Amino acid sequence: MNKAQILVIEDEQDIRDLIAFQLKSEGHDVLSAESADKAVTFLERGEKIDLFLVDWMLPGSMSGLEFTKKIRSQSRFDHIPVIMITALTQAENIVAGLDAGADDYITKPFDLNVLQARVRVQLRQSAIQETSNKNLLDFDILKIESSKCRVWVEKEEISLTSTEFKILLLLAQKPGHVYTRDQFINSIQGDNIFVTGRTVDTHIAGLRKKMGAAANMIETIRGIGYRFKDAL
Ligand code: CA
Repeated sequence: MNKAQILVIEDEQDIRDLIAFQLKSEGHDVLSAESADKAVTFLERGEKIDLFLVDWMLPGSMSGLEFTKKIRSQSRFDHIPVIMITALTQAENIVAGLDAGADDYITKPFDLNVLQARVRVQLRQSAIQETSNKNLLDFDILKIESSKCRVWVEKEEISLTSTEFKILLLLAQKPGHVYTRDQFINSIQGDNIFVTGRTVDTHIAGLRKKMGAAANMIETIRGIGYRFKDAL
């Protein structure tokens, strides 16, 4: 198992220290926070987190449940596993925790070995996800989530037509590669749409307009077609 950085949010110091000790003994880095507010300061300073362990009942402006909802609403964290820890054992609590976006749920009192095993499961699953679907294409200014057909420019989501999205994805999956108009036509043909080279140019013009600050990532190769700017 790879080493992960785990953020533990738990207000009871004994439990927090125990969890941290246990996770460190498995080779992980641990960041400890006694409240969600403190945890937010870790996130704001750009810490890379591989897994969140979140106690539900916390002092301060946010409960663990609210914290989980908050990170789930941000594209930077929406794919990172969250295990919720809580003394609330009712089914309705468990459902609320999972609905808020937690991946797993551990009730107090818990066995540290069970906690560790649950952490291993979540880290393994997120590693599989990361390598198997290359779902997120990240070019800093531009992010493309291929499975959900979503695109962000400078953290603002932009709305593309399905043809514009297909063109962008084709380009962005192979930066530096020049695509001819005919290749675009082949990839967007179907759907009973009649496509010509001129149509491709029109779609690219529309795409660039929507891409705003990232528009220059699509380069025109005169007389040939287009390519996505090579990062190098
Ligand atoms: Ca608590």
